[in-house]
Amino acid sequence: MQSLLDGIYSEIKPLLGQGKVADYIPALAKVDPHQFGIAICSNNGEITEVGDANKPFSIQSISKVFNLVLAMNHYDDSLWQRVGCEPSGLPFNSLVQLEYENGIPRNPFINAGALLISDIVQSRFASPQVAMRDFLRTLSGNAEIHSNPEVADSEYAHRDRNAAMAYLMRDYNNFDNEVEEVLQNYFFNCAMEMSCVDLARAINFLANRGYSSIAEKQILSADQTRQVNALLATSGMYDEAGSFALKVGLPGKSGVGGGIVAVVPGRFSICVFSPALNKVGNSLLGVAALESLSKRISWSVY
Ligand code: GLN
Repeated sequence: MQSLLDGIYSEIKPLLGQGKVADYIPALAKVDPHQFGIAICSNNGEITEVGDANKPFSIQSISKVFNLVLAMNHYDDSLWQRVGCEPSGLPFNSLVQLEYENGIPRNPFINAGALLISDIVQSRFASPQVAMRDFLRTLSGNAEIHSNPEVADSEYAHRDRNAAMAYLMRDYNNFDNEVEEVLQNYFFNCAMEMSCVDLARAINFLANRGYSSIAEKQILSADQTRQVNALLATSGMYDEAGSFALKVGLPGKSGVGGGIVAVVPGRFSICVFSPALNKVGNSLLGVAALESLSKRISWSVY
């Protein structure tokens, strides 16, 4: 494993300097783009790492996976009447599809879908923020994990597009709670800060038929785990999901903080971090590193 990661690291590191950090909020625009780390967590919980693998970063849309899992833990398949399971083929923050499709978001991994899931979680938990924080601490085995209030406040101050999606869903009677409160909880989740090591550990249950060897418990059933992995494979990388499937062929989820998590079912989970993004908002070095990984292990879910 170590020589696998060392090989990927030296192959991809020369790309540092390409791409652009997210700049829609000042707190993310000031992140140093010259960072690159990878961590792999095997299904028995063993970590292999390289580069900036212990540097916490803003997990952003990677939180959408954990948010969905929290919701799936407390609701049955009726969840899928309120949110779809088809790829969107559009940017993560697009509004157009939502009106065409009567306020039902295409999938839980675009912003509209994640806001809808946050609404669902809000109906179930007295404090959704504590629920998410504690869930991530349990899954990663790191009790220090927290949300960065500067990032969350800055996202809230620039909330107009996300707010528009939530209010549109409310107009279609597909949103139960106070929009502003749900937005704050959604941004709290996006502003969680975790390292590659934390995230590789936290996502490992998806590689292990729903069982977390870190938390030592079943997080999802094997069947629900298959559903989440299928959704990640078709919708986890926004409008790059198709080419990611061609190049990498693993279920994965990106965030505009520069992280990407991916799952090699039955074997290991992986998290790559490098803050400079490509045109669709996925980590440029992260996608390249995962492409190199899938070539080197000559394995994909397809
Ligand atoms: N907080 C970001 C937003 O809502 C998350 C986007 C992302 O990581 N793609 O716009």
